Amino acid sequence: MIAEKKYILATTVQEAIEQAVANKENFKYLAGGTDVMVNKFQGNETSGCLIDITKITELKGIAKQGDFLRIGALEILEELKFNSIIKDEFSMLIEAALSVGSPLIRKTATIGGNVLCENRCLFYNQSEWWRESIGYCLKCDGDICIATGGKNACFSELVSDTAPALIAMDAEIEYVDEKGTHRQKLEKIYTGDGVKPRNIPKNAIVTSLFLPLNRGFKTAFFKLRERESLEFTSLTSAVTVDKKCKLKIALSGVDPKPVVIEGKIEDDKDLLIKKAIKASRAVDNDMYSRKYRREMISVYLQKSFSILNPPK
Ligand SMILES: Cc1cc2nc3c(=O)[nH]c(=O)nc-3n(C[C@H](O)[C@H](O)[C@H](O)COP(=O)(O)OP(=O)(O)OC[C@H]3O[C@@H](n4cnc5c(N)ncnc54)[C@H](O)[C@@H]3O)c2cc1C
Repeated sequence: MIAEKKYILATTVQEAIEQAVANKENFKYLAGGTDVMVNKFQGNETSGCLIDITKITELKGIAKQGDFLRIGALEILEELKFNSIIKDEFSMLIEAALSVGSPLIRKTATIGGNVLCENRCLFYNQSEWWRESIGYCLKCDGDICIATGGKNACFSELVSDTAPALIAMDAEIEYVDEKGTHRQKLEKIYTGDGVKPRNIPKNAIVTSLFLPLNRGFKTAFFKLRERESLEFTSLTSAVTVDKKCKLKIALSGVDPKPVVIEGKIEDDKDLLIKKAIKASRAVDNDMYSRKYRREMISVYLQKSFSILNPPK
C-alpha cells in the first residue's frame, strides 16, 4: 500500500526544510528511495507526503575541506569507487558501499540514505497482514517486542554497511534544520532505541559526511550474510588502526545502534572482543541466530586483528 498523497520536488535545502515544516512531520525525505519505497509498499512507512531531495545540488560533490574529505549526502554508493582520495585514504568505504544490496540498488542508493536507512527486524519487515496476524510489535503499533517474547524495548537492528566503515574512520555528519547547521561524530546520531533509532530532528536534512584526511588508516572489513548479493547484513565489522596506533571497532547488524569500541593496537585483543560481544544486544530477529552472530563477532575481530597487527 502506498500511503502518500503528496509529492514535492525541492531544489534547495531551505525549500525542503520549509516544506517539511509545512507538512508538520507527516512527510518523508526521498533520496534514492531504495529504503523508503520498500517500507511504503510494506505499509511500514505511512507518511502523507514525500519530499524529493534528489535535485538539491548542495547535497552533491566530493572535495577536500580543511582537514577533511567532504562527501555530499546524495553521492551514489556505486560511484564512490571512482574518487581517487576515497580510493587512496578510505578504501574501506568503497568495500562497504559495494557490499550493499545489489548493483541495481547501489546505482540508486545514496550515502546519506544509507547511514539513515531504517532499522530492520524479521518481525517488522513483513507485509501488513503478516504483522497484523502476530498482533504487531513495538515498532509498528504493537505493545511488546515479539522477537524477545515480550520485552518492552525494540531491538530492530541498524543494518547500514557504510555506517560502521565511516565510524571506524572517525567520520562526522553534518545536517541542517530550522535552527542552523550542526556537525557531530556520526556514531552520536544513533540512539540504541529500535523504535526511534536516530536523534537528529525530523526536519533535518543531512548535507554531508566528513572523513579526516591523512590518518593513514589500515582497515579490515567483513560482512556476514546469507547470499553474497541482495542480502542485508547479519553482522558487519569494520576495524581500523591509524598511524598513531589508535584502534577503532564499529559493528552493525547486532544492535539497534552501531557497537563502537576504541583502544590501541597493543591492547589485549581478547578483552576487546569480550567488550564488543557484551555491547552487542543481538536478539533472535535475523536469519542467523543470536548465538551464531555473537560467535561471528569474535571470528571477524580475530581475523581483523591478524590483518592489522600480524604476529611477528
Ligand atoms: C533488496 C534490498 C537490499 C538491501 N541491502 C542493503 C545492504 O546490504 N546494506 C545496506 O546498508 N542497505 C541495504 N538496503 C537498504 C537501502 O537500499 C540502502 O540503505 C540505501 O543506501 C538507502 O539509500 P537511499 O538513498 O535509497 O535512501 P532512501 O530510501 O531515499 O532514504 C532512506 C532514509 O533516509 C532518509 N534520507 C535520505 N537522505 C536523506 C538526507 N540527505 N537527509 C535527511 N534524510 C535523508 C529518508 O527520509 C529515509 O528515512 C537494501 C535495500 C533493498 C531493497
